[in-house]
Amino acid sequence: MNPYTTLGLQGNASADEIKKAYRDLAKKYHPDKNQGDKEAEERFKEISQANEILSDPKKKEYYDNFGDAPPRQSNRSDSFGQFNIRDFMNSQFNSFFENSSATQQPQRPQKRRIQKDITITARIGLKHAIFGGKMNLKIQRATECEVCEGVGCTQEENECPECNGKGGTTHIQRDPNSLSSIQFMSQCEKCQGFGRITTQCPTCNGKGYVEKTESILVKIPVKVSQMTKLKVGGKGHTITLNGKASTGDLYIMVTYHPEDNGVAINQGKLYTTIYVPLDLLIDNETIDVIIFDTTLKLDLGQNSNNSVYETEIALNKDTMPAIIQVIPQLPSKEIDAETRKSIAELLRKSCGKSDTTIHPINS
Ligand SMILES: [Zn+2]
Ligand SMILES: [Zn+2]
Repeated sequence: MNPYTTLGLQGNASADEIKKAYRDLAKKYHPDKNQGDKEAEERFKEISQANEILSDPKKKEYYDNFGDAPPRQSNRSDSFGQFNIRDFMNSQFNSFFENSSATQQPQRPQKRRIQKDITITARIGLKHAIFGGKMNLKIQRATECEVCEGVGCTQEENECPECNGKGGTTHIQRDPNSLSSIQFMSQCEKCQGFGRITTQCPTCNGKGYVEKTESILVKIPVKVSQMTKLKVGGKGHTITLNGKASTGDLYIMVTYHPEDNGVAINQGKLYTTIYVPLDLLIDNETIDVIIFDTTLKLDLGQNSNNSVYETEIALNKDTMPAIIQVIPQLPSKEIDAETRKSIAELLRKSCGKSDTTIHPINS
């Protein structure tokens, strides 16, 4: 066996590269992850053997010089050679459970911490974003189990029958050909290495909290901006700390499509475009523009810039700037030629004859 190729490395691999390659492969082929897979088990053995040689400077030097693993001092099956079995076990165990609580004393089952506050996103219509209103929301609120304080199990503990309280099982595999033995520990699945098992809380069935769906009516303020965070106090999750229950708040992020029904909102201003019959326009009438269900009075006689009128719409004790573009609507072409002629004559009489050379707008 070439320990370098076994770990997928070049002969000049550094100690860090060896360590990393071994850790990645050992994780991948660990028997706990590949239960019953003989090939993975074989591969895991090879990887461990390769690491055994390359992680030990003396053995590595020997291999680099002689192309073989150093001979063991004893070939008795109860011996693990020159190195300390306890160190080896620890190194095996630690490398698999690094960064996990298993490297320390296993912990009691932790409280399933839920955050008190709930944040959700609600999509509303543009009409509500402008004029305000109410929305009905269904939310899932959790109440932490008062019996187990969110832990999900009772305080009572018994020795784990699966591992007899040891927290894990030690496996030893011996290869009669290479005279090596591989030892690894697998964490007990039943007790998660704790060695003791607890009884599921009967009140919450081990979940740590009870959930219920609630309908909530939320007020939408007028002129609400995108991503406004609305707060509804006391409608979050309820958690219990040292026997004291407290409830969080509900936060609603409001979003909406900025365009609807010919109306658009941009930077706090309302925009719309309307057709206005020519006679109303010429006669400077005041017209009613209906924005959703609200009437906006527009005086066509006010100064406008290229048919763009700047006014404002009233919103329940508030107002919002409204930019209205007016497109003149000509009389139907079906009017008879004589009437058409007289309208044109009338216009020319007051405004003069128009130039027939026309340029694009803003050119
Ligand atoms: Zn156990
Ligand atoms: Zn409970």
